[in-house]
Amino acid sequence: MAFSDPTITHCMKCGAPAPTWPIKLHQNIGLIAAHQRSIFEGQICKPCVHREYWKKFAILVTVGWTSYYSIIIGPVLLVLNTVNYVRTVSSKPVGLPPRHDGPAPQLLPPS
Ligand SMILES: [Zn+2]
Repeated sequence: MAFSDPTITHCMKCGAPAPTWPIKLHQNIGLIAAHQRSIFEGQICKPCVHREYWKKFAILVTVGWTSYYSIIIGPVLLVLNTVNYVRTVSSKPVGLPPRHDGPAPQLLPPS
């Protein structure tokens, strides 16, 4: 797992200050004789972990195996993602949101 930074205090996906988990998810789209692969890697909050996993899952079970090469790699990536997902959701967060001691922080509009 390449991404594991305890100083990350915000979700890299939605930007929310929340506990974050490093995760790596694969995506593959089969195009008969070609395929399109991509990897998502980042440290994100739990709702985003679920959302990203199921998004990749939906892509992999529908168009993830629809090429010659993908017939093999599609299911492999599905298993790989599921292993990464289960490992991520069952582990402790690596990054924690900034602590708020004392009064609530003033939220100022971006200038
Ligand atoms: Zn998030």
